[in-house]
Amino acid sequence: MNTTYTTTIGLEVHAELRTQSKMFCGCRNDPHDSEPNANICPVCLAHPGTLPVPNKEAIAKVLLFGEAVNAKRATYSEFDRKNYFYPDIPKAYQISQYAFPFLTGGTLAGVALTRVHLEEDTARNQHEGEGVSLVDFNRSGVPLMELVTEPVIHNAKTACHFARELQLLLQTLGISDAEMSRGEMRVEANISVSKTDKLGTKVEVKNLNSFRSVESAIDYEIKRQQETLDSGGEVKQETRGWDELKQKTFIQRSKETAKDYRYFPDPDIPKIDISSEPYFSKKRLEEILPELPTAKREKYEKIGLTVNQIQVILSDKRIDKAFSELYKRFSSNSQILKLSANYLTSDAVPLLSQDPSKDITVDSFSELMLLILDSKINSRVAKDLLTEILFSNISPKDIATERGLIQSQDVSAVIGIIQEVIIENKSIVEEYLAGKEPALQYLLGQAMKKSRGSANPNLLKDIFKSELSKNK
Ligand SMILES: [Zn+2]
Repeated sequence: MNTTYTTTIGLEVHAELRTQSKMFCGCRNDPHDSEPNANICPVCLAHPGTLPVPNKEAIAKVLLFGEAVNAKRATYSEFDRKNYFYPDIPKAYQISQYAFPFLTGGTLAGVALTRVHLEEDTARNQHEGEGVSLVDFNRSGVPLMELVTEPVIHNAKTACHFARELQLLLQTLGISDAEMSRGEMRVEANISVSKTDKLGTKVEVKNLNSFRSVESAIDYEIKRQQETLDSGGEVKQETRGWDELKQKTFIQRSKETAKDYRYFPDPDIPKIDISSEPYFSKKRLEEILPELPTAKREKYEKIGLTVNQIQVILSDKRIDKAFSELYKRFSSNSQILKLSANYLTSDAVPLLSQDPSKDITVDSFSELMLLILDSKINSRVAKDLLTEILFSNISPKDIATERGLIQSQDVSAVIGIIQEVIIENKSIVEEYLAGKEPALQYLLGQAMKKSRGSANPNLLKDIFKSELSKNK
């Protein structure tokens, strides 16, 4: 690959907003789980004479996003008609925003944003083969937030990182489920390469429905454009799709420009005076703004969690919720928080995936952590107990007491066990005394067994050594 090229990437991301009803009618916003064409009405089917009414909840969610990324919010806004004909767009235009988006500017994950606007989603075409295509209108009119970044990204990795951070933020704010595999978040990348300061011809790549495909498609496209230029060819401005199977982009159509869409303000929708609507007030939104991933990351770094642990915590809703609660309860005790993070990001992970519907019980979990820190149980017992208490209200202390698993801090009890082991394993004791270190591990194992796993391993080892030295 020729390294003298500069790559420039801008992203456009669509996210379906999670609202009760659709963008311009009262139909239920549930495009994925309902029977086809169950959530439809004359408005989202574009019957003549129907009038759209903007959904306040959707607008407030976009404005809330603006608070999180420090975007400038519009004081005035309007909806426009974006004209094009397609079977999944029954009005032959999409209601979108052109000159007056709700948000401009802002930053996310170090990437400058151009604008964020609101529009309606299209219906969904379902191609059945042999000339049969079906259209499901459940998605028609679902509120869709479109975010456009500045062309300031220079490689696929950064683009992918931005998309992940955006998903995390949308989920944290509760404004979109943003599952890429369900089409709730869709990424498009505008990519160009150039050897000069002037930007090259940009190519838009669509159909990127996983983080992996965002990264692979951009890498592929950078290489394709460089090779085209290197061989004396010309990069054409066009829209390309991503073929996941072939791992290649392919041409879909030559790119439309804004002119082709003949945007004009929708005469059926009144202009929106954002500043006069209490539901949109900055004060109200600031109050409902949850703690952002960046703030959490900073806090967790301070108590000594690793970057990896923080990533696991933030990207799993249940771990995130449990750890936030633990942080609240034990904010001054970084020892218990670190121990909790260790268990939540390793041993708890497979248990969570086995039971996707259950929530972590913070009371039982924190009691388990305290038992470990107080040396009441060893880590082997803790791991066993974790499987029983992670989702239940049972007290791990009660189980451990009942089963005799509380570590014996009582030196005389431990000495008793050790003396028994020494008597029962005379030949091995002799091996150890003759200098065979590994023999001690066996003896320790026998003693641990006798204590039913409840002995404190360090105490056991210390006393064992001193008892054995008496046998010398
Ligand atoms: Zn409807």
